[in-house]
Amino acid sequence: MFVTRKTLLASAIAAALTVASPLAQSWGPEAKHIILLIGDGMNIEHEIAASRYLYGSDLGLSFHRLPYKGNVATWDVSTYKYWSGGVYDPNAIVPSLGYDPDKGGARPYPLGPELPGSEAYLKAKATDSASAATAWATGYKTDDGNLAWLPGDPEGGALKTVAEQLREMKGYAIGVVSTVPFTHATPAAHVSHNKSRNNYHAIGTEILTVTKPEVVIGGGHPGNDGTPTFNYISGTDYDNFKAGAHAAEYVFVERAPGVDGGVSVLAAAQQAVMEGKKLFGLFGMEGGGNFDSPEPNDLPATPLVSQATRENPSFAEATLAALKVLSQDPDGLFLMAEQGDVDWANHANDFQRMVGTMKDLHDGVQAVIDFVNQPGDAVHWGNTLLIVHSDHSNSYMRNKARMPAGDLPTQVGVGSCGYGGPACTYPDGEVTYGTTGHTNELVRVYALGAGANLFHKYENKWYPGTRILDNTHLYHVMMEAAGEPQASPLKLK
Ligand SMILES: [Zn+2]
Repeated sequence: MFVTRKTLLASAIAAALTVASPLAQSWGPEAKHIILLIGDGMNIEHEIAASRYLYGSDLGLSFHRLPYKGNVATWDVSTYKYWSGGVYDPNAIVPSLGYDPDKGGARPYPLGPELPGSEAYLKAKATDSASAATAWATGYKTDDGNLAWLPGDPEGGALKTVAEQLREMKGYAIGVVSTVPFTHATPAAHVSHNKSRNNYHAIGTEILTVTKPEVVIGGGHPGNDGTPTFNYISGTDYDNFKAGAHAAEYVFVERAPGVDGGVSVLAAAQQAVMEGKKLFGLFGMEGGGNFDSPEPNDLPATPLVSQATRENPSFAEATLAALKVLSQDPDGLFLMAEQGDVDWANHANDFQRMVGTMKDLHDGVQAVIDFVNQPGDAVHWGNTLLIVHSDHSNSYMRNKARMPAGDLPTQVGVGSCGYGGPACTYPDGEVTYGTTGHTNELVRVYALGAGANLFHKYENKWYPGTRILDNTHLYHVMMEAAGEPQASPLKLK
């Protein structure tokens, strides 16, 4: 019986998650549900730091238990040109010009050694979130700042994204979630097309009135204090949603004073399901329009992360609301959900905030695993691919002291660093930071479910003698997992 088989799968996954068995490799073949969760600006040192704070051990986060684990090079066309003397030819790519394992390492530190001279090499030039998301969303490399648009900004250079293709070819419902503005680079690269990530109003209008994903949940709210700031959504789009101009198609929910955002976004999702509508949730409004980041407390042996406000949903709540709506579509779903504040914390070298945002991502991944594990529905590991990834590294952070659970380093500038101010500092040296910018360090990818084994076939392809993947390989894994393999537009020299 279906339910019995489902229950067996659920216990199989529970077993896989506790003993890290390679069960996923025998599952598949087709993923009807593709869930891509992103920690923006996250690398393995941040993962270890958050894991030590929460559990006192190095790799104890929810996504560390996924059976596929890999390392990904994240360079974009701007990085490549920096090292190649300004030349980029998609028909004659030399991967080591984008990322050279002999200079940066075949594995990210501390999984591999820190090579002499690697810090300067890795800090020299790195991708941004727009070109990184474009790589896995389209299979193309592009310039810094481009959203699903060809390098060099040609007219008509818009690229169809994985979300758009799966909707067109397979009828998938598509959605994006972010804890930073919904028009920010990572969500925008999946559901809009622009030569510049900074064109927030045009990006928002394209997302909400042209692409019209089944779910959009993110930051960018103009504020509730009577003097709205339309940084991330145009006044026209906001007013139209508020006045009900899109009510026939979308359930609209927004941050409201004294209202629990987790409850309201899930209630709106429930309403969208009942009425057969799409969902637009607009929250955030901390300094940059983002959700207020969770805050860890310095309580040795009793780790505790508090929410700054209940007016925003947590990353897990926003992601569950999206899945609730998207999973109604019998054809399948594509969801990209991003914890975007990991990157913002790292730009500020703000360790405490970084730990809070990592806990938020960790909880979101666990919520997705629990959602898929639920018996009695059509979403199970035999037809669902979960990928957890990061778009690029940031801050060249190094854990110098082994902090026990609940313990935080002595930090100067808690809550006040960043947003243009000075970065936080660590007088006792428990952690060090090498930059307030992105780095070209390898990032991790974790996967489970239908098609997760496809990652293996890209190892050793671009970087012989290593297991390093390229970020464009994620696009090909997702498309092939969905039963629609695509030829790469990139050729190696
Ligand atoms: Zn960044």
